[in-house]
Amino acid sequence: MARVPFIAGNWKMNGDPTQAKILCAALVARSKDWPSVSGEKVAVALFPPFVSLATAAETLKGTDIILGAQNMHEAQSGAFTGEVSAPMLLTAGCRMVILGHSERRQYFGETDAAVNRKVLTALEVGLHPIVCVGETLEEREADRTEEIVGRQLAGGLKGLSEDLMQTVTIAYEPVWAIGTGKVATIQQAGEVHRFIRQWMADTLSRDVAEAVRIQYGGSVKPDNAEGLLADPDIDGALVGGASLDADQFDGIIRAVKP
Ligand code: PEP
Repeated sequence: MARVPFIAGNWKMNGDPTQAKILCAALVARSKDWPSVSGEKVAVALFPPFVSLATAAETLKGTDIILGAQNMHEAQSGAFTGEVSAPMLLTAGCRMVILGHSERRQYFGETDAAVNRKVLTALEVGLHPIVCVGETLEEREADRTEEIVGRQLAGGLKGLSEDLMQTVTIAYEPVWAIGTGKVATIQQAGEVHRFIRQWMADTLSRDVAEAVRIQYGGSVKPDNAEGLLADPDIDGALVGGASLDADQFDGIIRAVKP
């Protein structure tokens, strides 16, 4: 079965409720003729900050646009001041959550083991995670990309059954390409996507490897999206900066070729 392309917008710490309403409404208005692949419409998800989830959920109601959160706590409830749990995200209208983003790893000390605990909790309550992996520039230059990505996959996805794995999306996001304007070449991205798919085949099964969607993330814009998305192993994009502009995000979605 063909993998339906999946374009996701990570707003990061941008988009208060007023801005969220405007951006979501602008995308809903543009969504009517978004492309389809093999008869299925491209999947689109938005990841606003926590405080804007309710407004986004209201504005996206009745549309196919999926709502998700950018992070969650590994526990389902408890004395964790300032944190937000997976069950809360579900009741706020989320179906997905981004886990292991490089900014969480880099600035908040998230380890592979912590990412794994969050992945297991998300799946337990029925939230579908996007699990981010990717190497730094130093690691790429030292020829350690596969070692690092392999370690992040093995650590972050530990204990997942084949069935659960098929509900997870992987985002390959080279750290050096995030927010820098430096996009990986189609060849660089394609090589790592094929490595990830082979890792899935070796670790779980060929069926899982064929089913799991692997997004590319890192300075995706309308003018570079078409080339990246044409690679058979690049199943979509996780978009940061360009997802804050309705025209740019719409342009990336329209770069998916039927
Ligand atoms: C991201 O934050 O996941 C990302 C890919 O950001 P940008 O598109 O701005 O590089």
